Amino acid sequence: MTTPPSSVPTDVPLPPSTTQSEGLFARAKAVTPGGVNSPVRAFRSVGGTPRFIREAHGAYLTDADGTRYVDYIGSWGPMILGHDFPAVRNAIQAALLRGTSFGAPGEGEVELAELVTRLTGAERVRFVNSGTEATMSALRLARGFTGRNFILKFRGNYHGHADGLLVEAGSGLLTNADALGAAAPSSAGVPAEYAALTLVSEYNDPDALDALMQERGHEIAAVIFEPVVGNAGVLIPTPEFLAALHRVKDRGVVLIADEVMTGFRLSLNGATGLLGLQPDLTCWGKIIGGGLPVGAYGGRAEIMDFVSPQGPVYQAGTLSGNPLAMAAGLATLRELEADPELYARLEAYTTQLAAGLKDLAAKAGVPLTVNHVGSMLTAFFVDAPGGIRTYAQAAPSDTKAFAAWFQHLLARGIYWAPSQFESIFVSAAHTDLELNATLEAARGAYKEL
Ligand SMILES: *Cc1c(COP(=O)(O)O)cnc(C)c1O
Repeated sequence: MTTPPSSVPTDVPLPPSTTQSEGLFARAKAVTPGGVNSPVRAFRSVGGTPRFIREAHGAYLTDADGTRYVDYIGSWGPMILGHDFPAVRNAIQAALLRGTSFGAPGEGEVELAELVTRLTGAERVRFVNSGTEATMSALRLARGFTGRNFILKFRGNYHGHADGLLVEAGSGLLTNADALGAAAPSSAGVPAEYAALTLVSEYNDPDALDALMQERGHEIAAVIFEPVVGNAGVLIPTPEFLAALHRVKDRGVVLIADEVMTGFRLSLNGATGLLGLQPDLTCWGKIIGGGLPVGAYGGRAEIMDFVSPQGPVYQAGTLSGNPLAMAAGLATLRELEADPELYARLEAYTTQLAAGLKDLAAKAGVPLTVNHVGSMLTAFFVDAPGGIRTYAQAAPSDTKAFAAWFQHLLARGIYWAPSQFESIFVSAAHTDLELNATLEAARGAYKEL
């Protein structure tokens, strides 16, 4: 960090230099669309230069200019233990010495599958390379199993970028409207005929779901949902909505919990464990790979045994079950299981962060509604006395105020998620030191709005 000259009041820091990031971003834009390999990284909805990250340890990121930031992205979820966690690093190093890919089965895949089935109650699991692959494969499986073509998802939920799921989708698509125009499908290149096989209902609206099921249930292969939404900002399901979700199973519809974000984050059995859900299939990603590319889907044996080579639904992957990725996932899940207090610690930090943010916003006269569960949190820049339960309620948030607040935080060394409609993630490496630094920075950032 640059030291401000003595004439500058110390609570208004000089913004750190971004010369190196700017240079890298210019080079990146010449060779990669938008200069990034995943859209939200480009800072489009908050403006400014995305920081190019050189390294990450514990709760901190260090950018190409040498500035350190308290990290609230955690690689968008995977780094629940913090960056560069010793047991995970050691497991990857040990695996590396045995070779990086075999194209044949290995012990790591068996061990991780045994651990995942034991922790989650899924009877069978198949590993893929990303969350997108997991949801895409689970839907094909549900269609193969039921012989039905339609699927149903919820407005503002994000399930990766497979064609049929880019309909009324959340995450980067919620702040990408200028590029696309508001419509379903949410992306160019998705044929309307294909998108027409995806039905959309409102999250947390049990009556709408019941009505749609009454009318179309017999044509629907699967209902896929985020059990706690992270990709429209954090939205928490009501018990009535969860009950309606479970009723779809009575119509022979496969209920798919997309736990790519919440799996192993909200508890050892994700949101499913926390909320007592009974999905037929579950999708995982992010934490299950411990920072390396892994996704997975699993569930009841009766359905999973439709997957090739056991059954007729084809799904394959050259690097699936990669030994380095399995080692990172195993080390991460083993650590989570070995530290039963960890989830309570994460929740305590997040609860204090939420209370502090609300309190400071109120003192500064900034309208704010904070949703949080476990180690996930979104600070919506809107006054919603009745709470925010749906994307429609989150949408009026003041994205300009959010963007300004984000920039003021960044200038003070706090790296928040660069979009109003994302969750932030607290890791086990976040301590009181980072909590206090964050609230101090937030106090200054509110004052400047
Ligand atoms: C991140 C995410 C995905 C997509 O996973 P990728 O690994 O980015 O393909 C799917 N569903 C949910 C709920 C997610 O948060």
